[in-house]
This record gives sequence, C-alpha cells and structure tokens, in this order.
Amino acid sequence: MTRYAWDIALVGMITAAVAWGSFKPKVAPTEAKPAAARSVNTIDQLKDSVKRLRPLQTPLGKPQPGDWLAEHKEDGQTFEQFLVRRPAPASSELTTLYIQPIGDFGKTQQELIATTARCLGLFYSRPVKTLPAIGLEAIPEDAQRINDNTRETQILSTYVLDTVLKPKRPKDALAVLALSAEDLWPGKGWNYVFGQASLSERVGVWSIKRFGDPDESPEAFQLCQARTLGTALHETGHMLGISHCKAWRCGMNGSNSLEEGDRSPLHFCAECQPKVWWSCNVEPQKHLAGMVDFSKAQKLEESAQYWQRALEALK
Ligand SMILES: [Zn+2]
Ligand SMILES: [Zn+2]
Repeated sequence: MTRYAWDIALVGMITAAVAWGSFKPKVAPTEAKPAAARSVNTIDQLKDSVKRLRPLQTPLGKPQPGDWLAEHKEDGQTFEQFLVRRPAPASSELTTLYIQPIGDFGKTQQELIATTARCLGLFYSRPVKTLPAIGLEAIPEDAQRINDNTRETQILSTYVLDTVLKPKRPKDALAVLALSAEDLWPGKGWNYVFGQASLSERVGVWSIKRFGDPDESPEAFQLCQARTLGTALHETGHMLGISHCKAWRCGMNGSNSLEEGDRSPLHFCAECQPKVWWSCNVEPQKHLAGMVDFSKAQKLEESAQYWQRALEALK
C-alpha cells in the first residue's frame, strides 16, 4: 500500500473556505463575530499592488506528469475572486496564531519551530504563541502505529485534529498549526500523509518527519527549513480562505510531492499576497520590509530577492 497525500486539507476546502463569516457565517454563538475591522488598505490600493507586482512574476509552466495540476482540476483564485469570499478582513478578535509541537523534537528541530513561529508572525502580522510540546507518551496507543514500510512510529492525524486540537483551540486563535516530529497517517488504507486540516475549525497538523534531517549538513538544514516554513505559510493561507494558485510560481501552488513542493517559492505571488494584506490588515511596505530582513537572516535567497524587488515596486 503506497497511498499517501500531500495536502488532504483540499478535500474540504471549498465549503470550509466560506465559513469565515462572509457568505455563510457558521460562527458558534460563543465565538467572535465577524469583524467590522478598520482596514489599513483600500481595495483599490491592493488592486493597484497586484498590477505593480505583476511584472515580477514567473509563470508556473505546464504541469509535468504527476504534478498537482496534472491530477487535480482546480480553478485558481485571483485577488478579486478572493474578495467575493472574504469581503472583510479577519475578525479583530482572532488575534493570535498558535503552534502546537507534537512528538519528540531534536535541538535543531526545536530551533526550526522557533524560526517558523517568527516567520508566521511576520508574514501574517499576528503574534504567534508556541504551546507546550505534547510528547509521544501523551498520544494513546491506538492513535500510534509502526509503519510497515519505514518501521517508524506514526501518529493518527485525525486523533490530533479531533481530540488534541479542536477541543482546546484558544478563543483568540486565527489558526492552530500543529507540527509533528513524527510521521502521520490519516486512517485505514493510508500509508502516510504530510498533513491534514479542518479549515472550518481553523486547526491543522503537519509532519516535518519527511522533510529531511536538518543536522545532516548545511544544505539539508536549508532544505528542511524551506520545507517547514513553506508548509506553515501555505497551510495558514488555506485557513484564511486562500485557494491553490495557478497564476504564477507562488507559495500557494498545490503540490503532490516533496519534489514538486521544492519547486514552489516561499513568497506569495501578485494575486495571492494582497489576499494576506487584506485578510490580516497589514500595511504592504512594512510587511515586505520585515520579510526582506527575515529571509536574508535565514539565507532564503530567492524569496529575499523577490521581497526586495516587490518592496521597490510598491514605492
Ligand atoms: Zn495546499
Ligand atoms: Zn499565487
């Protein structure tokens, strides 16, 4: 059995994405109501940014056999299409992003979690709180198994979503992102899954186990870091209602494999980045300047260059 999936979140995405409080509010009575947040950007300013950033974009190119778009028919989503779903910024009461580490992390992996928290905080302009790690011993036996192929421990992703994350989601959580040091599987008939999310509940879990050993070499560290950061930004983007991107090379491109994911950049394209600025009520130039500093410090060269050029294009 080799069945696996990269991005199982997509299964529920279309219905989940409208549950924010725009078209079809499904907000529980105890939860924050949709915001009447004051916008720092007008829609016209953001549409102007789309135009200014467009010349910096690289076409995605024709999908290769086995790629996400070769196997999944998707519509893509422009900034204007996104606004139909999300006509207002996120509730001002959903103030915080949470990271929940699960499993036993090595020292370098713990540093990567801290870097991921910084990256998420800058990119989505929200404080990020890292919750106390949940060790393997706290996961019941029937939610763990040894994978037949790898002989390594796996954690049941649905257990994490339904029993660990959903019942304890803090009231002010824009999203709770669990990062697992162990491999995941989503249930009977599956070999493994990279991650799984409940978009309507704004919780998700992703494993960094298959991202490589960051202690192996400086190159392996960079690769593991890029994959971890890319996953965190991409999956949080879904939780804001951002669909997969077909327009350009973009952090919101769908991917069917690690190799395809490695071809996507960390940064979001001219159509997708303004969705974040709108949803999170962020001032674009301040945001881009923060991402330039962060990506230079982490040696994320391609995205550092992109964010620098984007900053100049908006001046
Ligand atoms: Zn995705
Ligand atoms: Zn995009």
